[in-house]
Amino acid sequence: MTRRLYQGVPDIADVSDLIGAASHCANTRASKNPIPRPCSLIPGAVAAGDKLHEECGVVAIYGHPNAAREAYLALYALQHRGQESAGIATADGAHLANIKGMGLVSEIFTDDVIAKLPGPMAIGHTRYSTTGDSALLNAQPIRVDSTRGLIAIAHNGNLVNLGNLRTRLERDGAYFQTTSDSEIIVQLIAHSHAGTLVDCIADSLSQIEGAFSIVMMTRDRIFAARDPRGFRPLSIGRMKQPDAPDAIVFASESCAFDLLRAEFIRDVLPGELVMVSEDGLTSRQYATGIPQSSCIFEHVYFARPDSRIFGRWVQESRDEMGRQLARESGVPADVVVPVPDSGVTAALGYAEESGLPFRLGLIRNHYVGRTFIEPEQRVRDFGVRLKLNPVRNLLVGKRVILIDDSIIRGTTSRKIVRMVRGAGAREVHLRISCPPTISPCFYGVDTPRKQDLIAANNSIEQIRQFIEADSLAYLSLEGLLASVRNGHNVGYCTACYTGVYPTEHIDVEEILPAAAAL
Ligand code: SF4
Repeated sequence: MTRRLYQGVPDIADVSDLIGAASHCANTRASKNPIPRPCSLIPGAVAAGDKLHEECGVVAIYGHPNAAREAYLALYALQHRGQESAGIATADGAHLANIKGMGLVSEIFTDDVIAKLPGPMAIGHTRYSTTGDSALLNAQPIRVDSTRGLIAIAHNGNLVNLGNLRTRLERDGAYFQTTSDSEIIVQLIAHSHAGTLVDCIADSLSQIEGAFSIVMMTRDRIFAARDPRGFRPLSIGRMKQPDAPDAIVFASESCAFDLLRAEFIRDVLPGELVMVSEDGLTSRQYATGIPQSSCIFEHVYFARPDSRIFGRWVQESRDEMGRQLARESGVPADVVVPVPDSGVTAALGYAEESGLPFRLGLIRNHYVGRTFIEPEQRVRDFGVRLKLNPVRNLLVGKRVILIDDSIIRGTTSRKIVRMVRGAGAREVHLRISCPPTISPCFYGVDTPRKQDLIAANNSIEQIRQFIEADSLAYLSLEGLLASVRNGHNVGYCTACYTGVYPTEHIDVEEILPAAAAL
C-alpha cells in the first residue's frame, strides 16, 4: 500500500506547507521554549527499534540541466539518514518550485513528479521523524517569501538558542508561520541590516547556536553552510559535463557523489558559508576560533561506511573500532558475529584483530518497513524478530562474540542475546563499538530521555545481567577517539558518552541522573 502524499506548488510561496510545520530535524520544540530538549520529548515520539536515529540528509545541485533528477539520486543515496519524508525544490533563474511528500524518496519522486521540477538548480532533503510528529507539514525544503526574495532552505541539525532569537524577532515584527528553526534562520536573514544577501546570511548564521548543516537556494544562487563546531557533515563535489562548466554538488555524505559520478572536492568547513552563482564558487568564514566538535556518533553508526566524513572514511573508523575493541576486551570464543547492518564493519575488524572467524550468524530482513514500528514495547519486541533471524548451523554449540554499535534501552539487545542463545550458542559475549550512552543529544539526534538510557542508570554488570549475556564490554572513550582520529587532531562531540556538552543552552533537567528526575 502506498503512503504517498504530495504537497507542492510551483513558484508562489506555499503558505500551506508552512502552517504548523514543526521540523523534527530542525528543532520541533515549542517556539516559546528557550531551552531545547531531546527530540524524544516530542509527544508520542520513540526511538523506534531501540536505536538512535539520524534526522536528515541534505543535498544541493548547481548548474546541471537535470538538477531535480540529480538531487533525487543524491537523496536516494542518503535515504539512510531519514525515511519518513523527502522534498526537492528547484530554481530556473526566475521561478522556484517545491515538492515534498511522505515516504521513501523513490516512492515520492516518480518521473512524472520530477518533470514538474524544472531548472538547473535544486536543493533536497530527506527526513526521519518519530511517530508523533510524522507529518507532511514537517517535510523540507521549506520555502519562505522573505523581504530578501524567495528562499528555500533544507536543514540538518538542531539549534539550541531558539527562544531568545524568536522573541527578539517577534519584537522586531517578524510573523512566524511555523515553529521550525529553519524559519528562524530565514527570518534572521530577512531582518538583517547587512547590505547584500550573502552578508545577511553570514550575519544570521553568526547569531544561531547549535548544529546545522544547511543548503539554501534563491532564484539564481545556492548557499551551503556548517555551524562553527561542525556537528553534522556536509561535503562539496564536482560533476564533469561535456561542453559545459562543472556542476557543483553539496551532500550530507560523500556516498551521494558516487551515484552522481561526482568527484569529492572537500568538506564545507565548520563556520564556512559557501555560495555558488554564475560567478562560480566563493566562500567565507563567518565564524572562527570556535573548537570543532563533530558528532562522533556519525562514525559509530549514522553515516554509511562508504562515506568520507570529517576527513576520514567511515569504514576505516569502524574497522579500527572493532580492532580496538578486540584489544581492549578480548575473550576466548569460537566466532565473531555482527548485529547487522551497522555492526558488520566493526565485527570484521574485531575478527581480524582477534584471529577468530567472522560469521554472518544473524540475517536481517531488509524489507521490513516502519509499519511495524509502534510505540508500544510489545510491538517493538516483535519488530526485532521481524528484522533479524539467526543462522542456526553457524551458532549451535559455539562461544559467540556478538558485535553491536550501541545499547540504548537494552530491550533490543536482550532480545538479540536471547535469539542467539536460543539458536544453540553455548556462550554469548556482547561487545559494543562505542562507550556507554549516558546522556541525551541536543544536536539533531533522536534520543530517549536520560531516565530511559540504560547505561545512565545502571552499572555495566547490571546491564549485562539485564541483557542476559555471559559478558559485556564497551569500547573505551580513548579507544573510540583514537579510532576516528587516526592521527588527525579533529575535535569531536562525545556528549552522549560523557555528559559534557560543547554548547550552552541545553536542558539541565534532562541531563540530571534519573533518580533526581523522579
Ligand atoms: S551528543 Fe552524541 S549524538 Fe549528539 S552530537 Fe554529540 S556525539 Fe553526536
